[in-house]
Amino acid sequence: MTTIAYLGLGTMGTGMVNNLVRAGFDVTVWNRTPERASAVSGVHVASTIAEAVPGADFVLYCLADDTAVRDVVFSPGGLLASVTPASVVVDMSTISAALSDEEAAAYAAKGVSFLDAPVFGSKDEAAAGGLWIVVGGPDDVFEKARPVFEVLSETIHHMGKNGAGVRMKLVGNLMVAVEIEVLGEALVLAKKAGLDPHKVLQVAAVTDFKTPIFAGVGERVVTGDYSPAFSLTLMRKDAGLIQGFADSLGIKAPSAGVVKANLDRAWAAGLGEEHASAFIKLMAEDAGISLAG
Ligand code: NAP
Repeated sequence: MTTIAYLGLGTMGTGMVNNLVRAGFDVTVWNRTPERASAVSGVHVASTIAEAVPGADFVLYCLADDTAVRDVVFSPGGLLASVTPASVVVDMSTISAALSDEEAAAYAAKGVSFLDAPVFGSKDEAAAGGLWIVVGGPDDVFEKARPVFEVLSETIHHMGKNGAGVRMKLVGNLMVAVEIEVLGEALVLAKKAGLDPHKVLQVAAVTDFKTPIFAGVGERVVTGDYSPAFSLTLMRKDAGLIQGFADSLGIKAPSAGVVKANLDRAWAAGLGEEHASAFIKLMAEDAGISLAG
């Protein structure tokens, strides 16, 4: 039976682990906060990374940010110290291209196969095995991991060599961030002009500018449901990653700066643990209106 060590039981990791167990993989989990392991069943629970990893055919992780990946991979007793060339390592976190490249080099130096494979989709897609995975790494390693990805995803996209997956993720997240920003601006404009936001979303759901983001996030905004399937803290992190990525290439991504400023303000106002779109509440407040109801 194929064995998997899964590190990180956050929103995304929990959904993915449940699907891997249902598909019949032999899964061992580790999470920094051990109590979160109670959200998954049918797994072995390890109390350290060093206990989770030996003997695993695949080591997967989907962690919050660069700091989390640095701690889990590079700290003494961490993944790099524990893993052997018998395992394929797959990082599914959204992190900087620079750190992903650093990981790839460190695993290569140990003779360990590595893929960067971040995901599109949110809590529901993770729970349903309906993610969209973008992968960077060698062809043979990608093919080896394909049966694992198939359990987690609706589609899998091999973007190129190591680092191509995480770069695609940042490109896609720029599109997502801008869609949420423009949704907020449009709904505020509409409400201020006397239009019904529900009817605006009905038009947006059928026209040539429809997107699942307008539909899904729009529904949250008009019902005032900012429960955190994807937290504002994480989207703020992503907006910063996109800016750093653009800077590193010597180009401008001005709309990422607009969204980042709105996210910074909402985060400073204490909305970090709400849904990523919660900054739209402040846009509405500025206009002297409410979009919920
Ligand atoms: P989450 O619910 O906040 O979970 C974060 C995970 O990272 C937890 O397991 C957490 O452990 C761990 N972690 C954080 N800091 C750590 C550290 N210093 N050392 C060790 N572990 C640490 O996040 P999520 O929503 O699952 O997102 C995970 C990743 O997927 C992020 O990179 C995010 O940007 C990306 N992503 C998220 C979504 C989404 O809709 N949620 C969609 C696509 C991509 P503890 O339990 O101990 O805190």
